[in-house]
Amino acid sequence: GPRRSPESILVVGLGRFGSAVALSLIEMDKEVMAIDENAELVQRFASELTHVVQADTTDEEALRQLGVDSFDRAVVAIGSDIEASVLTVLALSEAGVEEIWAKAITPKHGKILARVGAHHVVYPERAMGKRVAHQITGSLEDYLEFEGYALARIQAPTVLWGVPLGESEVRSRYHITVVGIRAEGQKYTYTDLDTIAHRGDELIISGSTKAVEKFSALPH
Ligand code: ADP
Repeated sequence: GPRRSPESILVVGLGRFGSAVALSLIEMDKEVMAIDENAELVQRFASELTHVVQADTTDEEALRQLGVDSFDRAVVAIGSDIEASVLTVLALSEAGVEEIWAKAITPKHGKILARVGAHHVVYPERAMGKRVAHQITGSLEDYLEFEGYALARIQAPTVLWGVPLGESEVRSRYHITVVGIRAEGQKYTYTDLDTIAHRGDELIISGSTKAVEKFSALPH
């Protein structure tokens, strides 16, 4: 079919994860076509998403009729029904969808999804579990990880209080970089060598995941 606007994204499965993805995309002004075989869910999201269709996405003919080949990007948010998840990714891949994101429940499930054509496999429960573990054990309040490298929001540790960053030796001693800082109630700003952190400040730091975890465990 004709190409859709790149702003238009296909979401399969309107369970908890899929509906959260779809509604967030709408908030970001994207167009979302969603498919779910459950009539009740289709009904529930009909007025909130651009287009909602009831169909079984393991049925290639049904997918063809819906014109899924015209989407550049798709999210397959079917989790518990592994067979349906795999067949849907396979069908979208064969239809030529260029960027397929798929939710996996287990690493084995994720491995199969990658094999049948998912370009990005996400483990939302594992990722959130890891995040919560960090939040409850340290001052690591929020973090993003990219292949062993992390960006995190932490409370300024006592070792930095009152010392200009340029003299703190954070890079040589802790192997992290302080990217941003904010005092309570204020906005984040970039740091420079003269920046001085105080008790209660929040920092955005970057470095290897190990270094970031270590640094965030310092007393604050
Ligand atoms: P979550 O844990 O995010 O709620 P689920 O796996 O429970 O995820 O939900 C998956 C959604 O995908 C359900 O709403 C279900 O109806 C839908 N779904 C499952 N299989 C198919 C299929 N073959 N075609 C279309 N939708 C499907």
